[in-house]
Amino acid sequence: MEVWCVAGYHEFSCIGSACTASCCKGWRVYIDDPAILRFQTEPGLLGIRLRLAMWHGGRLLPLLPESILEQLYGEEGDATDYINRNSGRCPFLNHKGLCSLQLKKGADFLPSICRRYPRQIRRMGERSELLLDLTCIHAADLFLKRAVQGDPRAVVQLLPVTEEAQLTSDEKLLITAPEGEMAGDDPVYLSALLSSRDQWLSRVAAAETPQELDLVMGQLIRYAAQVQQRLATGGRMDEVSWPSVGDSGSRSGAACFPFSIMTYHALMQTEIWQPMLQRTSPLLYEYIERYYAYFTDLTEIEAQRLLTDLVTRLYTIRPQIHAELRALLLYSILQAFPAAYGDYSLHTHLLTALLEVDLILLFAALNADTAGRVDLPQIISVCLRRIRHNEAVRHQCLAVLYEHL
Ligand code: SF4
Repeated sequence: MEVWCVAGYHEFSCIGSACTASCCKGWRVYIDDPAILRFQTEPGLLGIRLRLAMWHGGRLLPLLPESILEQLYGEEGDATDYINRNSGRCPFLNHKGLCSLQLKKGADFLPSICRRYPRQIRRMGERSELLLDLTCIHAADLFLKRAVQGDPRAVVQLLPVTEEAQLTSDEKLLITAPEGEMAGDDPVYLSALLSSRDQWLSRVAAAETPQELDLVMGQLIRYAAQVQQRLATGGRMDEVSWPSVGDSGSRSGAACFPFSIMTYHALMQTEIWQPMLQRTSPLLYEYIERYYAYFTDLTEIEAQRLLTDLVTRLYTIRPQIHAELRALLLYSILQAFPAAYGDYSLHTHLLTALLEVDLILLFAALNADTAGRVDLPQIISVCLRRIRHNEAVRHQCLAVLYEHL
């Protein structure tokens, strides 16, 4: 088994109560089977609280004996495999912003996802890559600091993990799990994917201006669409030819980076915006309110001109924004290729990457002050949480992109 980790992976550690966007709010927390067992067998008041957090229905249900619950709800009961299922605030997050479960029972008692987050693994057959999920605002902050230091490809540099001691027990478990949902068994495809990824990372890293980035992202998206189509019809990835550098191909003129105003308008009509965001993601709610405040009542031409002006202004007052957004695209591309190893959907994964970074660009342009200051880690965290970890929203947004790009 080959294990690689992205640069900066081992430098991360959670800042706990100092975090301004705790990962214990705004989304449901999946509970793995061993944690469910621990929660179901925990005695005393804590056990009752844990089962309440997992149960639908009346608050007293978890207090009933199992036999009665089975009669009422069948063998599965009405338990869910989530806590924080209404996506508000995890009931175990205390007033100091710390996890009361961890304080009382230790980290090993937590669901596996809480112990690992924001560490992620991408497994491709006998190869595993360890990354940090930039939905964590602190991981995003550290990432941006590296993004503006010299070599653009440094943020996606993969380093071999040679010592087992460098891995946590959760990482070892994931890496050595039997072939399953994260793995595949197609070494020819894997080799083509890795080689293609390497070349595209170099192309994107070499884009020195927003215009070059737009061009190369357009090429990459078209290339990925052809790859996905070829694979779906039984062909091989390496049968798809590469666009040459500078070739704008059959581009219809649709903007890729940033999107056109009509694409953004269509995206805002999806479930990306919902009244419940006021509770689950108040910052995203605020960003989208601001979007509407800027663009409502404008004609398409006026709105497009305003969008162009806002983006141009951002690039002027915050010169590092190009390096930051390019680094985000590189990081997303790094992850999109392994994701396509599992499902052969390279186009879909790259469109998702583009969607996330285009929304980050939009909200950065709308929220930057006159000195170019904007809380980019916060915007990154909010956008990625809404898109990457919400399948329904992602699918609706992708449908918009299939139509508009
Ligand atoms: S978002 Fe990151 S830094 Fe904040 S509490 Fe979660 S893991 Fe820690």
